[in-house]
This record gives sequence, structure tokens and C-alpha cells, in this order.
Amino acid sequence: MYKVLSCRNRQCLLGITDSWNAVDVLVKFHRGSGVLCQKSAVKHPPPELPEMPLCDFRPEPYQGMSKERLLEIRKHSCNPMTMKVTYYKKPVFINQGYMQWLWDVDGRRYLDLFAGVATVSVGHCHPKVTEAAEKQLKRLWHTTPIYVYPQMQEYAEKLASLLPDPLKVVYLTNSGSEANDLAVLMARLYTGNFDVITLRGSYHGGSPQATGLTSNAAYKYPIASSLGCHNTMCPDVFRGPWGGSHCRDSPVQTIRECSCSPGHCQANDKYIDQLKDVFATTVPTRIAAFFGEPIQGVGGAVQYPKKFLKETYQLVREKGGVCIADEVQTGFGRTGSHFWGFQGHDVIPDMVTMAKGIANGFPMGAVVTTAEIASSFAKGVHFNTFGGNPLACAIASSVLDTIKEDRTQENSSDVGTYLMTELAKLRDKYEIIGDVRGKGLQIGVEMVKDKASRDPLPPEAMAEIFEDTKDMGVLIGKGGVYGQTFRIKPPMCITKDDADFFLAIFNQAVLNYIERR
Ligand code: PMP
Repeated sequence: MYKVLSCRNRQCLLGITDSWNAVDVLVKFHRGSGVLCQKSAVKHPPPELPEMPLCDFRPEPYQGMSKERLLEIRKHSCNPMTMKVTYYKKPVFINQGYMQWLWDVDGRRYLDLFAGVATVSVGHCHPKVTEAAEKQLKRLWHTTPIYVYPQMQEYAEKLASLLPDPLKVVYLTNSGSEANDLAVLMARLYTGNFDVITLRGSYHGGSPQATGLTSNAAYKYPIASSLGCHNTMCPDVFRGPWGGSHCRDSPVQTIRECSCSPGHCQANDKYIDQLKDVFATTVPTRIAAFFGEPIQGVGGAVQYPKKFLKETYQLVREKGGVCIADEVQTGFGRTGSHFWGFQGHDVIPDMVTMAKGIANGFPMGAVVTTAEIASSFAKGVHFNTFGGNPLACAIASSVLDTIKEDRTQENSSDVGTYLMTELAKLRDKYEIIGDVRGKGLQIGVEMVKDKASRDPLPPEAMAEIFEDTKDMGVLIGKGGVYGQTFRIKPPMCITKDDADFFLAIFNQAVLNYIERR
């Protein structure tokens, strides 16, 4: 691909190679002569960095507003919150996406390992899903459940078939927060109890009700949102007071020592004691629900001792509560070993909430529960204009087919396990990489000042590594209560070559940070 650009004598062509960074490998030639005019003034990648894996998709050139204008409008016409969440010092301006790739408005390609926050499940603009969307767009965009139309029923049946008995009744929403709000409402109606327990560090959404469930100060406002919501200590076997070298269900264990006898986990007992304390001190004798993510997402891919959820579910049920699994991030095969994250904990929840990956980025969510619990919802009328929209259902249905056809769950397991095992080698090499964990393609890399203290690496240091990783062509996420954990939750179509590319870039970003000290 060649593009004419100006040079001092306005005689240059730019030869653009499809490399890790199109902009950085430009070489200018005098037009027609083939004579080297000058190497690109921009910095070249350090020689040891590999080339970005090839991609034969060609994005359309960007012809929209300038970056300056886009930022100006954001600043003046969009809520200031949208400036606050812009992820980088030098923001990324996205133009187009295809599978695991994103292109910015300058035509630069990025490997997307964050998937619009764990949301693009099968790949950006996956051709099969796009085709299903186009087909439905031409037939019917919208109607509501006041009429009967096939897409909603077809999808409900398909989704329910992927959940174990008795989780067979589906209610469709537009987002994860909405699904969680409804789950709380149903739990309260069904049990006749009010109080809900969540884990510290959890994120369950941004609606007034869901911020009550969320246990992370950054997402809380000084308003009365938490009535009836309580939390218990997160059984974080790396950062928490207890944890060892066998606790979690991950290809990589913590660096902490453990003296438990086989089959017994003392850390689990201690965290369960904390929950018992909450029962004894904080909630009434009967509760409505326990809410838990199978692996904390925004909290930084935090994993619990293997038996924690199973024992918790039993205790919660003894208190009259229902157990709700928030699968907004862990569902749809992301954890690799199973389709749902809860299956990795050997539990069957009473309700499952989902969103994000459900429709590969199209706004949608769902609550799936038992017929008995669902019937309590019918005590009143709940109407949702867009929930179960035919377009959303057609897309979500195609996503389910694609997960199966593309074997993305198996790919999550293979590539995710490989990536974590290799990241663990970097953890052993660098003092500031404290922990590597996760399952499948739900991965966390927790950064520390040093391994002995496990104190979180400060936000400015995190930001440096984060920005550098992006500047070298890879987008990842950040999370954790202290913003100390890098999050890797890519579209589930990434390859081992992509993983290798990221590993080299991340290694370099960490090295650059250390060398700058
Ligand atoms: N639950 C979890 C586990 C989430 O990660 C999120 C979003 N980050 C939500 C709920 C809320 O979903 P939404 O943003 O679609 O409302």
C-alpha cells in the first residue's frame, strides 16, 4: 500500500508495510526514483520486538472529524464523566474493528486484548454475526414483547438450553446493571427478605441499585444507594490476609506459601469465617440474596479458594437467601473450561445474570432463573421497551452459534492457559509483577512495589506501563480496587501468535519502566 505524503521537496512516497505499527516503519522514497530520501523521523521499534501478527483485512480510510475537534466536542458537549474514563494520556481514536484488531483514525492497527471491556466475545464485526444483524435489520428492527415474534422465543430457548436445570426461565434486558437490578428485585419478591450480600471489590453495575451491590469506592456516590446491601471480605488469595500456593482454580498459583494438607484449604475456612461474622453482626437472620462473580472482573480477575462459593451458597440458602451468579464477564465460554463461570465452582445458582459478551457488543443483558423464582416477578407488571428486541435477539442467537462453530471456548482455554503460563515466567523475572491469575481469557496481572510487601504499584507507574503497551500496539485493561491489576480479556478469537506478540510488548513495557527508574 502506498500513500503520497509531502516531504521537504514534496517528492516523496511513503511505503507502508503491514507491521506492528504502520506509522513507525515508514520509509520515504523520492517519487519514481526509488532513491531513499529519509527514514521516517518517528521512533523505530527496539530490534528485539517482534512484528505484529499479520492481518489481511483492510480498514476503510477515516474521513471524519479531526482528533482535536472530537476531543473538543467531548469536552464541551458530553458529560465530563466521558473525559474521566478516557483511558490513556494520549487517547486512542478508534475508527474500525475486525476480529481481534482495531484501527485508529490514522490507520494504525492495535491488537485488542480488552474487547471493549470483556464484551466483544467472538470478534469485532464478526462476519457471521454481522450478516445475521444485516438480515434482521432489513426485516424488523423493533417491536416489543407486547407482541409475539419469533426472535425472542428462539433466543430464549437456545439460551436456556445452555443452562443446567432448573435455570430455564429467561428475562431479557439491555445491560448488565439492568439485569442485576432485576435479579435483586426478584430475589426480594421471592424470598420476602431484603438484605443482599456481595463481595468486597466487586462490580455489579452503575444504576442506583447496582452501585449498592458494587463494592469499590471509585464507583460509589455519596447518595443513599446501598439500602439493604452489605459486603463480606473478598477471598482474594493473593492480596487478602490468607492465601497460599494451591487455593485457586487457575493454571498459575500465587507466590505465597501454603501449609495445608491436601484437599483442605485453611484460607477458605478463614474467609468463610468472615462471612459467618457478617451473618452474625450485619444482616437480619433471613436474607434475600448473595451476589458473586465467579471471577471478579473490574476487581482485577480475583479468584477465590476453590470451595468458597460452594460453601457460601450453602450458608446463604440456610439463611433463606438465593444465590446469584453475575456472569456478565465470565459467561459465554470466556473461562475456557466451562460455558459459565459458576460451573468451575461446582455450584448451581438460583439466578444467573449476563450481558457484555452475550451479543458481541450489541446492547443486551439477561436474567435466567427458575420457574418458581420467576413467577414471583409476575406479582406486578414489569415492562421493558427494548428488552428482547428482535435485532438484539437475532444477534445474540448468532453469537451462540458462532461460539460453537468457531470453538471460541476451546480457544479461550488453549490460548488463555498458554498466555498465563508465559506471563508467570515474567512474574518470576520481575519484582513488580506480583501475581498472574485467571481462567481462559479472563486474566489478571497484579503489579506490586515488591513481592515481599505486595503493596500495589502506584497509579502513575501503572499508567506508564499501560501507555507504553498501547504505544507499542496492544490495548489491555486496568482494574483492581487500587487500580493495580492489568486485565486481559480479549475477543476469544485471539491466537498464540497474538499472545506471543503481547508477551514481547508487555515484557518491553515493564523493562522500559524499570530502566527509567
Ligand atoms: N456486572 C459485572 C461483573 C460487570 O463487569 C459489569 C460491567 N463492567 C456490570 C455488571 C454492569 O454491566 P453494564 O455496564 O452493561 O450495565
